[in-house]
Amino acid sequence: MSLNRELAARFKTMATVLQLLGESGFKVNANLKVADVLDQLVEDVSTIDDATSIDGIGKGSATKIKEYIETGKMADYDALIEQIPSGLLDVLKVQGLGPKTVQRLWKEANVVDLTTLQEAIDDGRLLALPRMGQKTIDNIKDSLEFIQSSSGRTNIGVAIPIAESLVSQLSNLQGVTQCEFAGSLRRGCETIGDIDILLSTSEPETAIEYFCSMPNVTKVLVAGDTKCSVRIEEGMQCDLRVIDEEQYGAALLYFTGSKSHNVFMREVAIKQGRRLNEYGLFKDDSKDSTPPQSRGIEPIAAQCEDSIYEALNLAWTPPELREENSLDGDGIPSLITASDVKCDLHCHTTASDGTMSIEELAEEGIKRGYHTIAVTDHSQTQAQANGLSPERLVKHIKAIRNVNEQYSEITVLAGSEVDILPDGTLDYEDALLEALDIVVASPHAALKQNPDEATARLCKAIEHPNVHIIGHPTGRIIQKRAGLEPDMIQLFEAAVKHNTALELNAHSLRLDLRDWHIRSAVKHGVSIAINTDAHRPTDFEQLRFGIATARRGGLEPKSCINCFNANELSKWLNQKR
Ligand SMILES: [Zn+2]
Ligand SMILES: [Zn+2]
Repeated sequence: MSLNRELAARFKTMATVLQLLGESGFKVNANLKVADVLDQLVEDVSTIDDATSIDGIGKGSATKIKEYIETGKMADYDALIEQIPSGLLDVLKVQGLGPKTVQRLWKEANVVDLTTLQEAIDDGRLLALPRMGQKTIDNIKDSLEFIQSSSGRTNIGVAIPIAESLVSQLSNLQGVTQCEFAGSLRRGCETIGDIDILLSTSEPETAIEYFCSMPNVTKVLVAGDTKCSVRIEEGMQCDLRVIDEEQYGAALLYFTGSKSHNVFMREVAIKQGRRLNEYGLFKDDSKDSTPPQSRGIEPIAAQCEDSIYEALNLAWTPPELREENSLDGDGIPSLITASDVKCDLHCHTTASDGTMSIEELAEEGIKRGYHTIAVTDHSQTQAQANGLSPERLVKHIKAIRNVNEQYSEITVLAGSEVDILPDGTLDYEDALLEALDIVVASPHAALKQNPDEATARLCKAIEHPNVHIIGHPTGRIIQKRAGLEPDMIQLFEAAVKHNTALELNAHSLRLDLRDWHIRSAVKHGVSIAINTDAHRPTDFEQLRFGIATARRGGLEPKSCINCFNANELSKWLNQKR
């Protein structure tokens, strides 16, 4: 994680802990504000002499920031954390449990972690609390089950920044020639077990010592000459392996996996009278169980991954596609990359629950080189997200058109993220939807509908003549909420028939549609939209997670409407009009 993010996370946690301690809104908000500022700060905060020169950072926070930069510790943070049970922050991971409720559970029902939460449900303590109904408890139960079934895994949105920070720190050490992360993280999986880092260096001791004594290490599990494992504050295990430079590619291939891809590669090698392992590809058709490198056999290829694929007569496979055993059919698709994306068609402003004005949204789009950005605030049913009444939407459309006229570099589309109600009807009248440039229709409520109802609901929205895109079609939240489970094939067929795009919501907590949905959608010829659903400027950076998921689904730019140029997009949007 970058230093800015690390610090932001600390301030955010302090705000949460203060809330759990029943502190006043002022202190809480002050910490949240600092977290926000740090999150959105472009420069590395350690390069700024006096943090009070940054808008929104006061003297007290600046002192804490300085202390953390200089010592890797923050005394106030440590003191705060000590005041709550160590498992209480985990309870906040339960969908629907905010700090206020968790404080009540702690004070009134002795809930201190996920285990005691489960106990409190089982023995009826929770139900006995005032204002705690059976329905709420059922929801908590559901979410708990979900968390437990996915426990031990970390979201890619959390893991990638940490892994990248580790790699950049290690790469700067003396003697290091190669360093990168492997494993499921390199394959772009939505959650990962642990972080695997490979490194080549002329000074292994320096690297190992550095790795074991990083400030966020809470426990050193193994510290050998070429391998060490640590547990870090964020709860993950990180493994570092020091690899000979000549064998780096073979090790990278091996530790990237997946297991089934490795098996496939080994079998190809054996058929060719060769042997493949983490040290290289060897010419070896003997049945000797001693590995070839221990018998003095020199590898045919080992230093880089692509030389191994090439020697085996295979095309190099992008890590995101290394889940499948064989690469039959049409070969390797030319996968989408972040730079192919030319617009974002699902973004929020302060009109509903975003933090940006329409102008700020336009500026963010320009900064990213987009030709188009769509303003799609929530519709009226989303009261808690300040959804727009029809009257407000009419005014909002005017405001968006005004902003659009101010910019020649970007087209700002007047849109809406209109709710798909449980019966499949939409949250605005057709006439109002017709007045919009773009309509993203999304399910937000009734996400436990049975599959048949969900299929009918979503198909109805897909068939609606004013709907361009179905936003986060299942409504799932990774590790928190399963979401709808419609018959995807029926959705895909309807989407193709009515030329409605299905969204891959890029937010790392959603990634909805998911990778295997995309794979099947692509085969059916569905148009995919990859949007960030940005509520704040930093959300645009979530695009990379959507891209990783899209690549795992084999998505090519030609099937993604965000890769259209301005003319193609406008033509595509107008075919519904
Ligand atoms: Zn939404
Ligand atoms: Zn949204």
